[in-house]
Amino acid sequence: MNDTTDQNSSCCGGHTSHAPVESEGRPNLMGPGENDMATCPVMEGRTVVKSVAESAGLFRDYEGTRYWLCCTGCVPLFDADPQKYVAA
Ligand SMILES: [Zn+2]
Repeated sequence: MNDTTDQNSSCCGGHTSHAPVESEGRPNLMGPGENDMATCPVMEGRTVVKSVAESAGLFRDYEGTRYWLCCTGCVPLFDADPQKYVAA
């Protein structure tokens, strides 16, 4: 006779799982970081995302420095008188 009483032992009851709620130091890959941002020299105060500006051709290399422009309207203005904008 086999009288095996399967006792209902709570094997998983003693676990204390502290889920990590803090996620600091995780890089935000969803949006552009500060290193990807520039200021339009023509319209000062206008923030430009470098990668977006470069893909759209909205940038100029002038005297070894790259300048990112916020919109197509700034390109001819910058080309007309670059020193006016980079001298600031
Ligand atoms: Zn602009």
